[in-house]
Amino acid sequence: CDMSNIFPNLNISTATTSLDSLNSMLSIFELDGNCNVVLQGRIGQGFYGEVYKGTLEYIDGEDKEPRKVAVKKLKTTAKSSCLQDFEREINIMKALEHPNIVSILGVLREPEISLVMEFVPHGSLQSYLKINKERLEEPQLLKYALDIAEGMDYLGKKSIVHRDLAARNILVVDENQVKISDFGLAQVMGTNDYYILKTPNRELPIKWYAPESLRDGKFSVRSDVWSYGVTLCEMFNYGEEPNLMIPEEEMEAPQQQILLQALEKGARFPCPPKCSNAIYVRIIRPCWQAESHLRPPFCKLIEEVKDLLN
Ligand code: ADP
Ligand code: MG
Repeated sequence: CDMSNIFPNLNISTATTSLDSLNSMLSIFELDGNCNVVLQGRIGQGFYGEVYKGTLEYIDGEDKEPRKVAVKKLKTTAKSSCLQDFEREINIMKALEHPNIVSILGVLREPEISLVMEFVPHGSLQSYLKINKERLEEPQLLKYALDIAEGMDYLGKKSIVHRDLAARNILVVDENQVKISDFGLAQVMGTNDYYILKTPNRELPIKWYAPESLRDGKFSVRSDVWSYGVTLCEMFNYGEEPNLMIPEEEMEAPQQQILLQALEKGARFPCPPKCSNAIYVRIIRPCWQAESHLRPPFCKLIEEVKDLLN
């Protein structure tokens, strides 16, 4: 998927018509060739990257229509170690092709590395849930839960752990389809069926993490299953993060320790008010079994969700 193959000569330039102050931060890339990416403004930012909306234009593109894209780049403040992480993110995305996973369209290496991907119209599921709270009903949310499980099942079969499955990293295509995105923390598992994180170089989304990840830095398909349960909780909470009830006297320790202790004592996020008991009991709670091997695999979760949809 390298742009040098697909779009041999790619130009990235900024929209000249937009006076948006954000655009003052964009640099203009002029590569001679037959393709332009025009950046239109920032739509998101995270630990090391910034995501812009843009248009991919074919200069000599006979009858090819311009297409909307999302472009992820490293922040100017990102450390050099982030470049390695970004390269990993790109390489993982290149290996993936699935209706429930955002697709990469190409990579631009000059003058700075940029990941060009399909633009997903409704943005993150987290914001979509908040905006559409009033009109979202269970079947639509269950269909999203099914899409996420299908995408995750595919990832697992490719031996990839996502490690950042959360509503903010799910993108909404329409009422009927979502896609998994943000492979910034994803890792390819080796011969083991898990990945051990030695020293984190960034803040981690601990609220979505399984006990073994918090305790030992151990990540697997089954720790992604745990995060899937938390993501479903966010969905049925309409984009609000779930919270554990933690006694005040235990609030002193570092966040990660507080959370781990509570989970080890058996505490779990409560059933969201709008979530049916069947969804909580049959899908969400099993994802939070303390023993990772007792959590259902994604193929099983797919069947359960389908069953509830019927
Ligand atoms: P980060 O690593 O900074 O968290 P993400 O890949 O999660 O980066 O993207 C940050 C935000 O940008 C997302 O939450 C979403 O709102 C927006 N975004 C990312 N990719 C796309 C896309 N392909 N289409 C539409 N919006 C996107
Ligand atoms: Mg993200």
